[in-house]
Amino acid sequence: MNITRTNLLDLTPAESESALRAFAESHGVPAYRGSQAARHLWGAAPAAAFEDMTDLPKEFRALLAEHFEIPRLALATEQESTDGTRKFLFTMHDGQAIETVAIPDGDRMTFCVSSQAGCALKCSFCATGAMGFARNLAPHEIAGQVRELAMLNPPLFATNIVFMGMGEPLMNWEAVDKTLTILNDPKGFEIGARHITVSTVGWLPGIEALAARKEQFRLAISVHAPTDGLRATLMPVNTKFPLADVIDAAAAFDRRVTFEYVMLGGVNDTPAIANELAMLARRCKAFVNLIPLHPGGSMGFVPTERQAIGAFARQLRVHGVEVAIRKSRGIDIAAACGQLRVERLERRRPVAAD
Ligand code: SF4
Repeated sequence: MNITRTNLLDLTPAESESALRAFAESHGVPAYRGSQAARHLWGAAPAAAFEDMTDLPKEFRALLAEHFEIPRLALATEQESTDGTRKFLFTMHDGQAIETVAIPDGDRMTFCVSSQAGCALKCSFCATGAMGFARNLAPHEIAGQVRELAMLNPPLFATNIVFMGMGEPLMNWEAVDKTLTILNDPKGFEIGARHITVSTVGWLPGIEALAARKEQFRLAISVHAPTDGLRATLMPVNTKFPLADVIDAAAAFDRRVTFEYVMLGGVNDTPAIANELAMLARRCKAFVNLIPLHPGGSMGFVPTERQAIGAFARQLRVHGVEVAIRKSRGIDIAAACGQLRVERLERRRPVAAD
């Protein structure tokens, strides 16, 4: 008889513990053995397989393996930048590939996680958008990125998580919602909600859902242009959710909001545009992150000159807006979203005959 195995990594820590306790009891094993098994799923030393849960009786481990699964992501490629940024490409059961980037900065270790394979939103400066959408990730594939890095030798642990990898997280709310619980729960990865940032183009239903959670998860909005006309040329989603509505939602969000703003040379980097952006940021009491484009440019765009980025930042500060110029991390390994996967696909593509 074929048993359909329950994927424990698609459950919140409370759900998996209660399923495992009930399972233990129904098989004549003390319930605490279920809690013991649950402790191996996430946290500082996740088990790769049931047989590695060596504090459990051998027969119980075998029974668990018959009825449950704890799927792995396969690490396909890893690259390390001279600045310490590490980029991982994982493949999933259906061959789809996703990226995770680990960015060390002093005491902090930020993991940038993917929430979808590909992305449907086609922002004009983004390599992932150019690939198109493949599918949503399940919770075990999003939280699984953090789990896999904790299983490296030596392990890598996140102090901070940003949902800024491949995909629009709020278009995959059901899985992201559960993943937030796994990341934050003391029986999951126990990462403080203030250290977890969900970054969105402004997908309004998702912003409302995030706002409804009681924990202090952070919201980042990819603004990239302060007017509808310009923004719609860079981000087609602006026609579905116009900037004014996104700004209203950000202003209503009662926790800290960040604006993400990629600096595109000659496109969105003039002093007049800085003034307009400042007005929006002030309304939302938003912190503005200016993101330099990779030096090589991307998708037909060129980076704003360093000095011009500085001038843009000063112009925002004149209006009392808090601003930071994000360091370009992992430049030598193309750590902008989607780029590793694109490189890999291109390498695979057959070369046309002359
Ligand atoms: S920038 Fe984000 S939302 Fe836009 S296409 Fe890329 S992955 Fe999708």
